[in-house]
Amino acid sequence: MFLGHFGVGFGAKRLAPRTSLGTLFLAAQFIDLLWPSLLLLGLERVAIVPGITTVTPLDFTHYPWTHSLLLVAIWGAAFGAVYYLVKRYRVGAWVCGAAVISHWVLDLLLHRPDLPILPGGEYRAGFGLWNSLGATLVIEMAIFGLGLALYLRTTTAADRIGSISLWSLVGFLVLVYLGNVFGSPPPSVRAIAWLGQAQWLLVIWAYWIDRHRVTKEG
Ligand SMILES: [Zn+2]
Repeated sequence: MFLGHFGVGFGAKRLAPRTSLGTLFLAAQFIDLLWPSLLLLGLERVAIVPGITTVTPLDFTHYPWTHSLLLVAIWGAAFGAVYYLVKRYRVGAWVCGAAVISHWVLDLLLHRPDLPILPGGEYRAGFGLWNSLGATLVIEMAIFGLGLALYLRTTTAADRIGSISLWSLVGFLVLVYLGNVFGSPPPSVRAIAWLGQAQWLLVIWAYWIDRHRVTKEG
């Protein structure tokens, strides 16, 4: 999943208005932000197998540290705890922790049964909606649209940059996503990993947006 995770980041602003959109993006996409580094270090593995699902050619053969349910729950708890220690904003800490864990739940909808429950365990979960292009697009767009709608009800632009930065990011995310779905498969695992690292720029972009938008009153 891609857009749906950013939808969660946007929508979470409704629950934790004092938490920066950048932090909410970081939480919702946290395990996919760790994943490229673990790929480059050789601790996790992915293979490119065109046709393995209708939507994505990626075969997630080994990713216990970032995508097993147990580790995701630990990452979520750690994220919430560190956030609380730094910001002392209890609601924000809970929302960030839940956003980290939401990633696994949303991935569960689309992935083939490749998501481990325990890091070393045999059992893999996944409902496999990636085998339907229509269902995938509906789910990604619905969660993204809902989250963005909640975000727009919660914040308003403080200046021109507040709307330009937001709408350019929305357009960019949708284009990147459609390019991923309808474009050709990535040339190599290294390319996947470095494109994945580029997602840190989206987090920085969201911090920038947040500095130019304010929470609506009432
Ligand atoms: Zn993921």
